[in-house]
Amino acid sequence: MTKYGQHFLIDQTVLQSMVDLVRRFGSQDTILEIGPGKGMLTAKLVKLARRVIAIEIDPSLAPHLDPLCKKYPNLTVLYDDVLKTNLAELGLKSGAYSLASNLPYDITGMVLRQFLTQAPWPSHMALLIQKEVAERITAKPGHLSILGLSVQAFSYPNLIRLVPPEAFSPKPKVHSAIISLEGIHQHDKVAPDLVPAWFRLVKAGFAQKRKLLKSNIHNINVPKELIASSFAEIGLKETVRAQELSLKQWVQLVDKLHQFIV
Ligand code: SAM
Repeated sequence: MTKYGQHFLIDQTVLQSMVDLVRRFGSQDTILEIGPGKGMLTAKLVKLARRVIAIEIDPSLAPHLDPLCKKYPNLTVLYDDVLKTNLAELGLKSGAYSLASNLPYDITGMVLRQFLTQAPWPSHMALLIQKEVAERITAKPGHLSILGLSVQAFSYPNLIRLVPPEAFSPKPKVHSAIISLEGIHQHDKVAPDLVPAWFRLVKAGFAQKRKLLKSNIHNINVPKELIASSFAEIGLKETVRAQELSLKQWVQLVDKLHQFIV
């Protein structure tokens, strides 16, 4: 693994796909870029928005990024860990900026969790991530995982294109994909006050994949009779497993069980 997941984009067609996607999001006031690296994508983003804030953990990349800041007054580069940066202090407001990133693979999950569950969240995301993770995020009912459910509950994800290892230098071991997340928190499928219980229920449901869903839920002390009657009302078979439920069915289930989920 490279230091900080540094695989720099060298394929112009992939770069163009990211730019086209961000442009498709519509007029941009502010774009936040995570990990500008040597500034390949950054140099395009500065032409798409009034202001670009790029957060890069590795200050040794400054010789690549500082000249860009001089050239483009609308660009600010901060040398910091994005997961520890106070985004509100940068003037970012929920729903009022886009996030664009060729993400270091090891922080993909943490970035998604932070930017989907904590304010200030972006209105759109354009992400270049590991292919397998992109497929889990955009999976259809019947194949949903905790990750897929968590992203689909609060946004509309789409797989835009696959990206081979040759598009980067150095080449990563895995294939990648560009995804978009749109409509973030525009039509949330889980009511705000039920979100903590919903996350606990989904996590419990997937805790032991080979077990039946009803056993996994019973493990967090929800009474068996209540599980059985809720399953019947929603039309779930007693033998159903977590990955077989649709997002809608998870929402129906938490509606019925939330008082018992602590
Ligand atoms: N955007 C560049 C490109 O497309 O060529 C670089 C992408 S590279 C996959 C990921 C970048 O994220 C690296 O520059 C790395 O140093 C930076 N990075 C890794 N962890 C980070 C973190 N926690 N916060 C901010 N940047 C980080």
